[in-house]
Amino acid sequence: MFEKCEAIVMRTIDYGETNKIVTLFTREWGKVAVMARGAKKPSSRLSAVTQPLAYGHYLIRRSRGVGVLHQGELIDSMRALRADLFAAAYAAYIVELTDKSTEEQKRNPYLFELLRQTLQYMSEGRDLEIMALIYEMKMLPVLGIPPVLDRCARCGATEGSVSFSVKEAGFLCHRCEEADPHRMPLSPASARLLRLFFHIDLARLGAISVKETTKAELKAVLSAYYDEYAGLSLKAKRFLQQMSVLKDTLAPDSGQDA
Ligand SMILES: [Zn+2]
Repeated sequence: MFEKCEAIVMRTIDYGETNKIVTLFTREWGKVAVMARGAKKPSSRLSAVTQPLAYGHYLIRRSRGVGVLHQGELIDSMRALRADLFAAAYAAYIVELTDKSTEEQKRNPYLFELLRQTLQYMSEGRDLEIMALIYEMKMLPVLGIPPVLDRCARCGATEGSVSFSVKEAGFLCHRCEEADPHRMPLSPASARLLRLFFHIDLARLGAISVKETTKAELKAVLSAYYDEYAGLSLKAKRFLQQMSVLKDTLAPDSGQDA
């Protein structure tokens, strides 16, 4: 029985001379692997719909192992993401993060919508670093490791300045900061943005502009937190780090605040 679904192509591997095994992230059933016969041939009607990041409607036959892709119809090829080196690297990163954080055939429409919306914002030219940071924040509850951001993780105080403690998994107020000598400094702007990114409905995200120094703080916090708790090793993340060095080399002023 063929069933229709809405999906994003997460990755593909070649299989034989002309086939591809395609991992789809579907709104209906989560992650599903399907065989796309002939899809490696450019003339195939499955060629465009099985490009990585393609988003569309797919007609598939599911199975316990690898199912079958019968046909697909593009909603958005996400070509803008593939055409730009930086956009492609960021998109690859959030897709790999999602891939490594999910099991096959485990339905999660919330996560599907999060991924779809983030890729769409990236393809529309939104700030790639900010989109990746928001995505990382929103993935934390999915991974079962939400940080404490609405009060001090030690004493529960809701007032005063805060720093971020990886050890305590959240904010530390100034009275408790001695508890973690490795706490990370947070400007009030960074603390506010961490909360905002965590709670905001992505569909309602307006224009957002963040100073480079604030971005650096947010990146440091999230990177340390993922290293400690997520247990993920992501190829795309390492590539992204190399890319960001390259970007700084190409644009020597990018470290300055606007
Ligand atoms: Zn405290």
